[in-house]
Amino acid sequence: MVDLKIQYDKISSQVDEAIGSVLKSTAFIKGPEVRLFEDDLQKYLGVKHVISCANGTDALQIAMMALGLKQADEVITTDFTFIATVEAIALLGLKPVLVEPEEASFNISPEAIIKAIGPGTKAIVPVHLFGQCADMEEIMKIAAKHNLFVIEDAAQATGADYTYKNRTFKKAGTIGHIGTTSFFPSKNLGCYGDGGALYTNDDSLAYKIRSISNHGMKARYYHDDIGVNSRLDTIQAAVLRIKLKYLEDYNSARNAAARFYDEAFSGCPDIRIPERVNYSSHIFHQYTLKILNGKRQALKEYLESKKIPSMIYYPVPIHLQEAYAFLRNRRKDFPITDKLCSEVLSLPMHTELDQEQLEYITTNVLKFFE
Ligand SMILES: *Cc1c(COP(=O)(O)O)cnc(C)c1O
Repeated sequence: MVDLKIQYDKISSQVDEAIGSVLKSTAFIKGPEVRLFEDDLQKYLGVKHVISCANGTDALQIAMMALGLKQADEVITTDFTFIATVEAIALLGLKPVLVEPEEASFNISPEAIIKAIGPGTKAIVPVHLFGQCADMEEIMKIAAKHNLFVIEDAAQATGADYTYKNRTFKKAGTIGHIGTTSFFPSKNLGCYGDGGALYTNDDSLAYKIRSISNHGMKARYYHDDIGVNSRLDTIQAAVLRIKLKYLEDYNSARNAAARFYDEAFSGCPDIRIPERVNYSSHIFHQYTLKILNGKRQALKEYLESKKIPSMIYYPVPIHLQEAYAFLRNRRKDFPITDKLCSEVLSLPMHTELDQEQLEYITTNVLKFFE
């Protein structure tokens, strides 16, 4: 699905040198590269504060802690996402309120959010799934009207642009009160281990986030908040500083591969290519087709026989996961998620797909439908 080897080979001399210099400095935790990377990412995103942490799941948890959400507060999020989004809510004793995505964009539906708002609602967590932003202008309007916090889970959308109706842009993750991301190796901006970050334009939230991610520590051994230990290590920061310089190129390469797939599949009646919304660029963390008429499993097996990997993101909606059985009483309320989970299939997508591979993949997909 992802080829990180060729990508590494192309930048290996820079990366090896950067890692080597961290090894020689022995500043493995809180070395200078961590702040330098935060500054670089801050400039790239056009946001006031970037605070790095250990991974994208921690980033979500720290965000909710920093906003002061309390036991049983309700947090609205999408039923069609990676488990981490809901996990962070549940771990803090908050109540996840799952709502449906839009069938076309895969992203949380603003209308569904409005219907789910009640007296206990405190926050909304939109997820920019597969690399395309949720409808943030609408979501921020709803949040302002009901006095809710918005945490953008931008783990799959580092570098995507959101376009407002007045044609101004903001980067994914910099629109809500807090944005979170992950630098897991296969993400669009990935390191060589675990990593994550939070973004905010609010000075006091930034202060709180920095404190919470470091044991709630204000000055050394003076603890103002109950915190966690969640840091980006120096080696990962050094790698990320290099990879950030290539992020735009990486996202363009993904778009070129997506266009190739689109052209090949657009005439096939059993396939729906990924729809693009007019308010966001797409950075194709995943290239996700809908395979209609019950043919997905047979296609997946056929591709396996041709040694073509494909993945189902996500096979089981959150409301049907064992651990979240306590949310299951609204089973009948999620027809769109159920449908998406039965139709989606993601094809190989990374920065190094060449013409020959793309031709092999598309030819075989089309052969299956002949
Ligand atoms: C990857 C991912 C996360 C979690 O990131 P980790 O760094 O693996 O903890 C959270 N949300 C979404 C949508 C993701 O894709």
